[in-house]
Amino acid sequence: MAIFLLGCEKEKTPISTSENIPDVVKEYVDRFRLEASVRGIEISTKHLTIEFEDGLAGNNGTPASGSCTFNDERTITIVKLDTTKIWWKFSDMLREAVIFHELGHCLLSRSHLDDELPDGTPKSMMHSSDISFYVLSPHENKTFRRDYYLDELFHGGAEEPCWANNNVDTGFNITVVGNFQSNVHRDHQSVIWTTSFQSLHKYQNGFMTTIDEINSNLPLISNVKIALDRFDSLWVWGKTDDGFIIAKHKNENEFEIVYNHLSLPNGPFDVRVFNIDSRDQLWFGNFEGLIKISNTGIVKHFNQDNSSLPKDPVVTISSDGNGNVYYVSGNNFIHNPGDDSFEIFNSNNSILPRQGLNKMLPHKEGVYISSRARLFFYDKDGSFRRIDMIRANMPQSRINYLGHNPQGNIVLGTEHGLRVMDENERISNYCEYYFGEARKDIISLVFEDNHTIWASTFQDFFKVELQR
Ligand SMILES: [Zn+2]
Repeated sequence: MAIFLLGCEKEKTPISTSENIPDVVKEYVDRFRLEASVRGIEISTKHLTIEFEDGLAGNNGTPASGSCTFNDERTITIVKLDTTKIWWKFSDMLREAVIFHELGHCLLSRSHLDDELPDGTPKSMMHSSDISFYVLSPHENKTFRRDYYLDELFHGGAEEPCWANNNVDTGFNITVVGNFQSNVHRDHQSVIWTTSFQSLHKYQNGFMTTIDEINSNLPLISNVKIALDRFDSLWVWGKTDDGFIIAKHKNENEFEIVYNHLSLPNGPFDVRVFNIDSRDQLWFGNFEGLIKISNTGIVKHFNQDNSSLPKDPVVTISSDGNGNVYYVSGNNFIHNPGDDSFEIFNSNNSILPRQGLNKMLPHKEGVYISSRARLFFYDKDGSFRRIDMIRANMPQSRINYLGHNPQGNIVLGTEHGLRVMDENERISNYCEYYFGEARKDIISLVFEDNHTIWASTFQDFFKVELQR
């Protein structure tokens, strides 16, 4: 009965609307609040009502995706959405853009702005007719533009984005060192090491040297793989005419040959990945399993025949400071706690996806695992968590590399360039580390110090001085 009384009291001209947000749009309103709050703006949705209505029309009578009605005091704010139109069905990013546009009118008092950026794209998501600002479709991925449009939306103006002008000066000093793709490592002497076309290179005091049998004590080797141990000393694995060689870098071009003429079980053993764990055990992954060489030289081969391991190529091996070894093989993420046992996780017993696992990074009490544009965290207690990449500020960027910067923050090499993630799992904006169109697809990188990074795309190996 009380409800009817309340209804009677409000039956005349309403003086305010109260919060009424249907469940299907709650996620977008939450994202709007979050994006406002990371930009220092607190949003109240106390008076926000969202309704659905077919056949909405704009001021000039043309069909509209949504509308916003409000009074001067903003005690009445009604957003209407026509969810029968294509924008609703098309994609999550397009839904968000339309809803954010209407909330821009209703909650931020923004009016339409039809200005353009130098490349002809809308300057603002308050554009009166365009809605493809940061669209994601099977044919195009413009999601890297999202952080600019949200800056502009909440601040009513933003610095011109790096992607809107082909001749943009990145402000960084970039030196291309070679036209090859490379894994990059930095050792404890700040020497930068890379491998390319099966050769080993070092970069020191401004010079690149290719290490070979003439200028070093290493024999002629191929299929070179490198890894750092817990002291950040460089180890080299290679194939010789007569078995395999494992050597540790000492000084200049001098190496300690730890194993020579090494033969390994099961015939040809093409190493794909190499890691050294915190117990000084050497791990090698090939197309069907793992080899471990203990610090006393005992060689163990783990594969489908002698253990529960899957018969898939080993994609990557990683280890932390507590003796844990992790590796990815096919669709499986595998944890070795330091003994000869393996815990195997995949889509059957965890939230991990069916395919696409690629990089890993031990961090604090667990490991980050990437799968294309997704990121997961494995906690040592055995649980998995999926990072919400939209809330993290990187809706859809393929991850090629995971590492740390000197401050201990996580750095991501992505198809949309270098991104840095803070402790709250919020990722830096696209233009913050923009190295130009040709240097976007970063597959490996390392920080030499706070100001200098070495990075590789599929085409180039380059150095960037980060101080602008
Ligand atoms: Zn509008």
